[in-house]
Amino acid sequence: MTIDYHDNDRHIYESELRALLPARLFDAHVHLFDAASRLPGTTWPPKSCGLKFGGAFTRAAYLDWAKTWLPEQELHLNSFGWPARDQDRDRAATYSGAISDNRRFFGLALVAPADPIAAVRARVETNGLVGYKPYLDFVEGKSAAEITIADLLSPAQLDYANERGLAIMLHIPRPGRLTDPLNQSQMVALCRRYPRARIIFAHIGRAYYLRNVRGGLDGIAACPNAYLDTAMVNHEGVLAYAFRHFPLDRILVGSDAPIACLRGKSVEINNQYAYLMGEDYEIGTSIHDTGGAIQFTSFYYEQLRGILLAAESAGLTPAQVADIFFNNAHKLFSAIIGPQGPLPTGALTP
Ligand SMILES: [Zn+2]
Repeated sequence: MTIDYHDNDRHIYESELRALLPARLFDAHVHLFDAASRLPGTTWPPKSCGLKFGGAFTRAAYLDWAKTWLPEQELHLNSFGWPARDQDRDRAATYSGAISDNRRFFGLALVAPADPIAAVRARVETNGLVGYKPYLDFVEGKSAAEITIADLLSPAQLDYANERGLAIMLHIPRPGRLTDPLNQSQMVALCRRYPRARIIFAHIGRAYYLRNVRGGLDGIAACPNAYLDTAMVNHEGVLAYAFRHFPLDRILVGSDAPIACLRGKSVEINNQYAYLMGEDYEIGTSIHDTGGAIQFTSFYYEQLRGILLAAESAGLTPAQVADIFFNNAHKLFSAIIGPQGPLPTGALTP
């Protein structure tokens, strides 16, 4: 695999990142999948970033990429498959389990609300996974705009996650995102009703611009089982707001690779946001720099930059920076496994 890495990227690493990044990074939000996870007869949409690495993004591919882009960091991971309906969720879980040792590498199962609880238990237990990744696309019979947090997992799936103390990585729905009143009440209700489950609100509740994060974290900050991941947030103001208004020991850094491996940057525009794309892929609200006006680096570097700048403006100590980059996620996922380490298949049943 050839890794596109330019002199400009190297310069960013050397001058802005290298001295400030801890030696170990825990990427709490990464999509790793092999080609076999795709349902037979389906293909990637033409501009999907799943094609960036040839239709698969394996653990080996990511570690290889990181060898170039993060040459001095040791990467630890929490990974899960590509959350689309054309993926085989059982096969994706098998792959996530195969690449997880529950020490440095952890994995989640893709879960649809219609998946029977027996199948979900088997997916988690046979593969030694630490939780679920539900997603809007797995909800059937409702349009994207109608889906609420309550639709993403079934009561039986939530009960099982609560019993086992599993992680649930939640991509919140609805156009108003973090500050949507229904989301706000359902986020808090979920955390309270399932206090042993660890609920990770991905992408800081998908608040990619300042007005969407302001005032939006207080409810879940008061819930001790609520976590945030920073995946795809490169906005220094949003990150600094989270660092100031949410318990730092429950903030996890995530990248959303392979999306983060593309060249581009998420930018706030008039109380909205868009992805300015330096490569011809589609990832939601994309605006393409077809004229080549800007020299881009990866979303990944932009995220690291944003986190480091926000850490500085929020006055984080080096120890706190190491916590959000590594210790918080390491503690969280290790605690789900327990002090005895990974158990043999089936032994995890309570
Ligand atoms: Zn993601």
